[in-house]
Amino acid sequence: MAVTIKSGREIDLMREAGRLLEIVHDELGRAIRPGISTKDIDKLAERLIRSYDCVPNFLNYQGFPASVCVSVNEEVVHGIPREDHILKEGDIVSLDAGLIYKGYHSDAARTYAVGSISSEAEKLVTVTKQSFFEGIKMAKAGNHLYDISNAIDAYVTAHGYGIVRDLVGHGIGTKLHEDPQIPNFAQKRKGLLLQPGMTLAIEPMINMGTGDVRWLDDEWTVVTADGAYSAHYENTILITEGEPEILTLHET
Ligand code: MG
Repeated sequence: MAVTIKSGREIDLMREAGRLLEIVHDELGRAIRPGISTKDIDKLAERLIRSYDCVPNFLNYQGFPASVCVSVNEEVVHGIPREDHILKEGDIVSLDAGLIYKGYHSDAARTYAVGSISSEAEKLVTVTKQSFFEGIKMAKAGNHLYDISNAIDAYVTAHGYGIVRDLVGHGIGTKLHEDPQIPNFAQKRKGLLLQPGMTLAIEPMINMGTGDVRWLDDEWTVVTADGAYSAHYENTILITEGEPEILTLHET
């Protein structure tokens, strides 16, 4: 599949898909506290997304049974919400959610602290978020795709963390996952030339230990191989002639 360049009309729809997802994420973030179950978070996410006449794009995606991925501590991504998984003080929880607005997808992830967390966990969350911003400094027309990958890798590696290699970012538009794949680790090639109108979901997944992961028996939940904590941060962005436009984040 070729990498799509969105028209002005499509970009407007993606902006709205992104704006609504940001609102959903902000609401979910306010709900995070010790004692809430990961299933409660999922129910809230689905209700919010549908309240904006949007559709949760993760629900039933390749059989995924929920509207939001809720991944706690050593869970990297694709955690399945459960009634009996209760968040507790000191956990970190990654919420990955997306929606479809008038046929166009948005996708974003945040990692939150549950109550007060260790300074080590706090640093992991902060570095993971910042690695996204380091990456998108390179996300402009005339640069190449892997300039983004290399920038994320350099920043994360300098902090001694492990970068997940088995999962990557992606193009996004009328489908949740479009070309190109966007690795969060350094590449030897330059990758494709970035052009205005490309919309990309950039999503570093960063581990406190090594970058190695494994899948649980549910065939969805990805966990760190060494059991160390993992964090995730993602936004859907638009490549422009100048600075990239972050479609799923307007206030930092
Ligand atoms: Mg994504």
